[in-house]
This record gives sequence, C-alpha cells and structure tokens, in this order.
Amino acid sequence: MSGFVLPPAPTPSVPVAGEETRFPVRRIFCVGRNYADHAREMGHDPDREPPFFFTKPADALLTGDADLPYPAATADLHFEGELVVALGAGGSDLSPDQAAGLIWGHAAGNDLTRRDLQAQAKAAGRPWDMAKGFDRSAVCGPIRRATGPMQRGRLTLSVNGEIRQDSDLSAMIWPVADIIAHLSRLVTLAPGDLIYTGTPAGVGALRRGDVATVAIEGLDPVTTRVV
Ligand code: MN
Repeated sequence: MSGFVLPPAPTPSVPVAGEETRFPVRRIFCVGRNYADHAREMGHDPDREPPFFFTKPADALLTGDADLPYPAATADLHFEGELVVALGAGGSDLSPDQAAGLIWGHAAGNDLTRRDLQAQAKAAGRPWDMAKGFDRSAVCGPIRRATGPMQRGRLTLSVNGEIRQDSDLSAMIWPVADIIAHLSRLVTLAPGDLIYTGTPAGVGALRRGDVATVAIEGLDPVTTRVV
C-alpha cells in the first residue's frame, strides 16, 4: 500500500474575475525595481540592468479582500501596489514573443513587505525571504482572462481613500513579456505561476485599521484591511 503520510496541503488559488472558478497557483515570483521612480526612492540607479527576482510561497496568498492581521516580527509593514501576471502555460529559454503566449490573465496585487526586515537583510547581505515571503504577504485580486500582456493602464494604491501610488503600467522598465522571458532563462515556468511585476514610487507604511486598495485600469480592485 502506498500513499502520503500526511494529508497533502490544499492547493492555493485565486478567484477568477466574473466566474465561479478559481485559478490554481503553483509558484509566486516577484520582480524588484521595475519602475525607475521606485528604484530612485529606494536609493538605486534605475539603469536598465537585467530584472532580478525573488519569490513568495504559494500559500502566502491573501485573496478575496480578506482582512490582514498585522504581521509578526515587524514595526514597518509596507504596501507595494503591483500588476500580477498569471501564466496558463510553461516553458524555458523563451523569447519575449513566446513568453507573451504564456499569459492566462492579470490581477491587481499588493506585494506586502516587512521593510525593517528587508533593510536589515540588505545591510547584512542576507536573503529577503523573511522580509517578503511571510504569511499573507501576497495580496491578489481576481484574475481577469487575457490574450496578451497588459502594456498600459493606470495603477493606483490608496490608503483610507487617499492615493499614495499613482503610475501607469507603461512606466515599467521591463514590460511584462520581457519579465517572463528573463525569468524563463532562470527557471522552468509552468501553468499556475504568478509574477508580481514591481511597484512604482510612493511605497509607505500600513498601520492597524488602515484600508489599502490597489486599482488597475481594466481589472478588479483588491482591498485589504489591516486588523
Ligand atoms: Mn514589489
């Protein structure tokens, strides 16, 4: 007789916009410094160096406008409003044209960050995992089906109704298809992968009681209340 010694963990998933179905998630990748104004505000030169990536565990997803208990081990929780790309096919060593064909849909997301732990990790030359990949750190709104990459559209993040980030997807240093192509040279991509595509300037702290909403033109917004 064979089988698992424990019940397998549930498959993380994200609602599909306007449907009763859900999108099953395999891996979550994130791009760092993909908007020049945010690179500058973090103290970096926004030259077009190749994109760099980090990851979050798939079970770090927070979906459906769920509340966020203020995370452990931080006094400086930051929001980062981002476009999320969902892949419906996989591959490796792809050209941007081939990479564009992997796209299943897009969502508005929030790459929640324990900024104090990230600053400590940067100073010590240590990994970002505990700054970026903590429980409920991957806020993701409903995924809207698409036939190609989103190239433009206003992206805003508001806290308690006040706009704090306001940019356009066209301001990305590396557009969506290029991001997927670069990533496909580092790992083999597969259906169910999500990619957070970076955040524009204006990142800042969230406190208990704050309500953060990420809105991207053409997509459903996602709202998170910190409790
Ligand atoms: Mn980010």
